[in-house]
Amino acid sequence: MVDLSDVIVPTSAADAAAAFGDGAGTTVLAGGTIVMPELKLGRLRPQRTLYLGRAGLDRIERDGAKYRIGAMTPVSKLVNGAPPPLSTFAAHVADYEIRRQATIGGNLCAPPGTSAPRGDLQAPLLALGARVRSTGAGGERTESVDDFLASGGNGRLVLDLEVDEPKRAATAGVRRPHAHAYSILAVAAAETADGVRVAILGAGPRAVRAASVERALAGGASNDEAASKVLDDVEPVDDALASAWYRREVLPGLVARALEDLR
Ligand SMILES: Cc1cc2nc3c(=O)[nH]c(=O)nc-3n(C[C@H](O)[C@H](O)[C@H](O)COP(=O)(O)OP(=O)(O)OC[C@H]3O[C@@H](n4cnc5c(N)ncnc54)[C@H](O)[C@@H]3O)c2cc1C
Repeated sequence: MVDLSDVIVPTSAADAAAAFGDGAGTTVLAGGTIVMPELKLGRLRPQRTLYLGRAGLDRIERDGAKYRIGAMTPVSKLVNGAPPPLSTFAAHVADYEIRRQATIGGNLCAPPGTSAPRGDLQAPLLALGARVRSTGAGGERTESVDDFLASGGNGRLVLDLEVDEPKRAATAGVRRPHAHAYSILAVAAAETADGVRVAILGAGPRAVRAASVERALAGGASNDEAASKVLDDVEPVDDALASAWYRREVLPGLVARALEDLR
């Protein structure tokens, strides 16, 4: 283990977990595309930084239909290495340079953006029913991504994620035409062993499941009928990219399109 005063650089997952401990006072540094600007602007002043770049957490292992994806896997590697709709969402994150640097763990744990949604990969991970393996106070645990996001991921070090290839998948989204095109709104849908799961990005601080849409589909509703329920699940907000009104108007149509495109 390399120890540069208050920057700790573990060289294995076990070292990373030991150095993280209960996480108190520790800032995790992955690709740094969020952390580094915050440091530079003086908005983040870590007491102790855990840099994961050498911890060997950057692999995708596939066993049949099951994928285990290390937290440090770059977003660019997911484009051809992960199942849809995760691969499709990964292809739309920022630009090539950012995708090479940014990691899936950093995206999952991205603090909500103040001027635009971020953490795009949370939506396909919810749609796929991903399991998150993390460590922190109380030791290692594996939980659903739904539970992980509901708790804000507070105080956990993400080690890896597991997803299964879905039977069918689809995405739909609206983006600003710009090199760093943040998503205004995006929908991820996947048919898993539990039925069709739908998740929305851009209608709240983090991605959320559209449980009312899923229930309607399971009850035999048409795609359009089910999609019209989405506003029961989310409360869109204004930000620098779009108004809450715009999002409310567009979202049911996007969900219907994703359901129609499931294949
Ligand atoms: C120009 C630009 C464009 C961008 N466009 C997009 C976009 O289109 N979509 C999008 O989603 N994001 C976008 N982002 C934001 C960011 O690049 C991504 O969210 C990225 O995936 C974050 O990953 P990272 O590895 O760089 O995270 P870092 O900056 O290293 O960390 C982000 C946060 O996650 C925590 N963290 C990191 N890894 C772990 C872990 N393993 N366990 C626990 N906590 C962890 C860190 O402590 C920090 O709070 C953009 C950023 C820039 C600068």
